[in-house]
Amino acid sequence: MPSAKDPVCGMVVDTMKPAAKGTYDGETVYFCSSGCQKVYEARRKGK
Ligand SMILES: [Zn+2]
Repeated sequence: MPSAKDPVCGMVVDTMKPAAKGTYDGETVYFCSSGCQKVYEARRKGK
């Protein structure tokens, strides 16, 4: 199955039906949950 790694928790995410995803700098990032997406976005905003 097409998969990607959640950059926050390291979980493997099915890219066909991710719980959450976002595009950052033109790159799509997949997450296991919207909670991980929030953490990722908070980290991007922080230093
Ligand atoms: Zn996660």
